[in-house]
Amino acid sequence: MLLDTYGRTATDLRVSLTDRCNLRCTYCMPEEGLSWLDKPELLTDDEIVRLIGIAVGLLGVKDVRFTGGEPLLRRGLTGIVARCAALEPRPRLSLTTNGVGLARTAAALQAAGLDRVNVSLDSTDHDVFERITRRRRLDDVLAGLAAAKEAGLTPVKVNAVLMRGLNDGEAPSLLAWAIDHGYELRFIEQMPLDAQHGWQREEMITAGEILASLRTRFTLTPEETERRGSAPAERWTVDGGPHRVGVIASVTRPFCRACDRTRLTADGQVRNCLFAREESDLRGALRSGADDEEIAELWRVAMWGKKAGSGLDDPAFLQPQRPMSAIGG
Ligand code: SAM
Ligand code: SF4
Repeated sequence: MLLDTYGRTATDLRVSLTDRCNLRCTYCMPEEGLSWLDKPELLTDDEIVRLIGIAVGLLGVKDVRFTGGEPLLRRGLTGIVARCAALEPRPRLSLTTNGVGLARTAAALQAAGLDRVNVSLDSTDHDVFERITRRRRLDDVLAGLAAAKEAGLTPVKVNAVLMRGLNDGEAPSLLAWAIDHGYELRFIEQMPLDAQHGWQREEMITAGEILASLRTRFTLTPEETERRGSAPAERWTVDGGPHRVGVIASVTRPFCRACDRTRLTADGQVRNCLFAREESDLRGALRSGADDEEIAELWRVAMWGKKAGSGLDDPAFLQPQRPMSAIGG
């Protein structure tokens, strides 16, 4: 098992498949100038499947989520999913994507064994979408969402980040739209993980603001906290149910005490926290012939060193060197 000194067990693995992306969301990437990992640095498909096999077979991981960068840009994705679905015990498999390439891949991914998707979408207005992502691709995302639902990658969840002065007025209309389409909406507080280090606490839209805005149009009832478990989203039923909305308040209401995450970057580094400043190299061990148990032990040691919290409230907080797109969000 992947234990740490605070008694937490990591069973949820996030795997970044690439640091590249076809959008340029302002809270994540700069317009240009970001350098990419070179091909030899990236884990191969075989290496990824082997590491996931070790996580599932020897370390107790039960959920595997593919992310990035944009994971649909990884050519071997469908094959990786199929091989992970054949692992014993079979992990639950999900994908976090911007949805741009999902219309043509959703059915194949579902057939390969993918269980669910989370699609990131911050606005249903073409101009606002373009201002946030710097690309005019809203129609592709909407088509991707529809295809995911059609393929049965359900419940389809939509992740939205609100940015002051850009889409902060859209919370109620986004929720109405999500309910209308049968998607489960979750708002994510903006975190200091952008490559350009532009995050400012005063500028961030807080969970409190999001809820107040939603309550101008909907009646929200908190779900019992027991149901939250280690899931980062706090959830509310909307207008008496059955629809729900979630808020992931990593900054103002952190959930570190219940964290069950472990992360693998596209170049084979284990991170025990999104905000960690240290990484542990599995790729080196893998490429120098280590056996599965040796790699598992390196992974255990990496998780044992996990800190109690993200450190966001510490005045000495330092943003991790890698941005969200390179860690895997
Ligand atoms: N490209 C895919 C996507 O956008 O879904 C997967 C990777 S992206 C880094 C994963 C999630 O992180 C997205 O939902 C995105 O909105 C979120 N994200 C990126 N930068 C963020 C930030 N600075 N604060 C909060 N969420 C962020
Ligand atoms: Fe790309 Fe996702 Fe980052 Fe947007 S949030 S730039 S889609 S990796």
